[in-house]
Amino acid sequence: MQTEDDGVVTLLGVRGSCPVWGPAFARYGGSTACVFVQMGGQSIVLDAGTGLLSLADVFPHGEQRFSLLLSHPHVDHLMGLPLCPLLQRSEFSVSLYSSPRDGRHTLEQVAALLAPPLWPVGPESFAAHMRWEDLPAPMFALGAVEVRCLEVVHPGGSTAFRLSCQDRSLVYVSDAEESEYSLQRLVDFAAGCSLLLIDGQFTKEELTDHQGYGHMAWETAVSVGRRCGAEELRIIHHAPERTDRQLDEFEERLFQMRGDDHYRFARCGERICL
Ligand SMILES: [Zn+2]
Ligand SMILES: [Zn+2]
Repeated sequence: MQTEDDGVVTLLGVRGSCPVWGPAFARYGGSTACVFVQMGGQSIVLDAGTGLLSLADVFPHGEQRFSLLLSHPHVDHLMGLPLCPLLQRSEFSVSLYSSPRDGRHTLEQVAALLAPPLWPVGPESFAAHMRWEDLPAPMFALGAVEVRCLEVVHPGGSTAFRLSCQDRSLVYVSDAEESEYSLQRLVDFAAGCSLLLIDGQFTKEELTDHQGYGHMAWETAVSVGRRCGAEELRIIHHAPERTDRQLDEFEERLFQMRGDDHYRFARCGERICL
């Protein structure tokens, strides 16, 4: 259903690895990976971190279906599922897509978290009608939206997404480590996008002690944006210990580098028009 919010991207969770809370994190937010995309009449959710608990607050009234694309099944990208209010409503239909990983398909990936002793009930407890799909990579369609997929470097694997409709596009790269080879592939994948949401958990300096953690430095994320010509860029997956004050300092450096505010650090709750 096409609404007046078509073309709007809402950032529901931009924290990485673990949710955080308290005054030091109030402005950039503490909820983990979740982005709501309204495009081409489709409601598409990227990842199911704790930001998913806020989906009901922004979901269009009267709409009863959405697609949920998982980048990968690490816990910070899944832990919003069991308590998402919309999944407890029987009139809802949800198609959940993930790439098979270690021989596990989508339902098995979710069931690995939603099972005793980690959680009292399994995925069968959702009241919504759930469809568990293998991600039809590298490309498929959700109505008028073309979805492209790219595997990126991360322990256990992770998928980047490019959602396009007419001449507007969103590229979502959560949890991706850098190497010269992988960066060029990312630049090609994101070429000319309207909005790039990209992992920048570390600083260049921190990265020297965090090789193999599966994340990139925000300075590199900015360089990917510049090289691919992204119109807008938001750095996501903020480290759990990163305070608002530190992110303000980074953003000031970013502004000095570019001289405009089209490239910024993502804030939870932010709405961006494509
Ligand atoms: Zn993550
Ligand atoms: Zn991860």
